[in-house]
Amino acid sequence: LSDRLVEALSNLRSKGKLTAADIDGTVREIRRALLEADVALPVVKDFAAHVRERALGDEVNRALNPAQQVVQIVNEELVRILGGDEARQLSFAKRPPTVIMLVGLQGAGKTTLAGKLAKWLVGQKHSPMLVAADLQRPNAVTQLQIVADQAGVPVFAPEPGNGVGDPVRVARDSMRIATEKLHDVVIIDTAGRLGVDEELMRQAHNIKEATNPDEVLFVIDSMIGQDAVATAKAFDEGVGFTGVVLTKLDGDARGGAALSVAQTTGKPILFASTGERLDDFEVFHPDRMASRILNMGDVLSLIEQAQKAFDEEEARKTAEKIASDQFTLEDFLAQMQQIRKAGNFKKMIGMLPGMDRNMKDQLENFDESSLVHIEAIIQSMTPLERQNPKVLNGSRRARIARGSGTEVKDVNELIKRFEASAKMMKTMARGAMPGMPGMGPM
Ligand code: GDP
Ligand code: MG
Repeated sequence: LSDRLVEALSNLRSKGKLTAADIDGTVREIRRALLEADVALPVVKDFAAHVRERALGDEVNRALNPAQQVVQIVNEELVRILGGDEARQLSFAKRPPTVIMLVGLQGAGKTTLAGKLAKWLVGQKHSPMLVAADLQRPNAVTQLQIVADQAGVPVFAPEPGNGVGDPVRVARDSMRIATEKLHDVVIIDTAGRLGVDEELMRQAHNIKEATNPDEVLFVIDSMIGQDAVATAKAFDEGVGFTGVVLTKLDGDARGGAALSVAQTTGKPILFASTGERLDDFEVFHPDRMASRILNMGDVLSLIEQAQKAFDEEEARKTAEKIASDQFTLEDFLAQMQQIRKAGNFKKMIGMLPGMDRNMKDQLENFDESSLVHIEAIIQSMTPLERQNPKVLNGSRRARIARGSGTEVKDVNELIKRFEASAKMMKTMARGAMPGMPGMGPM
């Protein structure tokens, strides 16, 4: 994550409300961070525009912590584009064998992936067979044989000594062999070129026609950077794929390619490859990738710190007031309104640090609707009464009850609560806790 984004976010957090200018500044930094993560430019533009639109909506204004909310929007949008809560599962044929075809540029990691997938599928009680349909390079078959041995699965390849085999034919023949030998999954390794190339596309397309795969997985090196979009588009148009596998995530690529490909093709990312060993392989996690792209760990801890500082500042102010005996029913009301504005009272209070068991119990019994009563009662008081609750004699209390549509006992209860709360805060202020008025059932 760029330091500038961290800075932009830390500037946001000290503000209660975000202005359009704040949001623009943050969105600019988010764009920069995504470009640093090598997300393709058009994708970054789209993404930033979308985040800006959402951030300008009223949800941010209602947020407890606007910076946190903006980050949450960014994170949610990233996760959504990357596939939502969970990656799509591999789809299997109703009638075996399930055919999985791997396509991608040379060096993307297809052959390695064939071994990884095979091993993973064996772990799930499948019986895969690998098919050597990369007959371009002399050692391609040998390489596939090596990973197959490691995974403990067989390879179907053209007989040696027949000259250069026909990959389409090998692929077609493998269907019959798989059925005969009771392999329920066939993984077809295909040739790649260094760049997108018509002949390569035609060959892959023909293999696809001949085998009618259940999945065509586009394998892409996460270090590819800005070329990700063009490459993905070329393979999608030239061959057509059903899913994406991202490789070499063990390197320092931040994974911008994932976002670029997912956004421009709309295809799901199914797996991630994270090293040269067959076990360096996992089901793709959209949320983890989103965090990686944004270095979210950093952002979240930053916001936590900011929130803590903010709470401490509030607590300090309250403590000052209490110390000088200036804490009035007006402050009580202001706090109450803040809490109501923040939405879910229990949830918010529950998140505060330093809650002890006793406070949590009180919270459990707290009826949020009583906040409405409290507000009504205080609003029915005169400014003098709010400033100085000691003047609240019997007739004033009766008037307030009538005015607020409550009963005198409710008013009495509130005043008792206010006094208890002021006392409680006096204690808590020493421990730098933010004030929590209105605790306990009304
Ligand atoms: P193909 O040309 O698409 O078949 O790619 P290969 O499977 O031959 O992989 C090319 C190179 O990348 C090999 O040296 C692999 O060991 C390496 N490789 C593949 N996947 C990964 C990965 O996830 N991480 C790392 N670090 N290397 C990988
Ligand atoms: Mg290969």
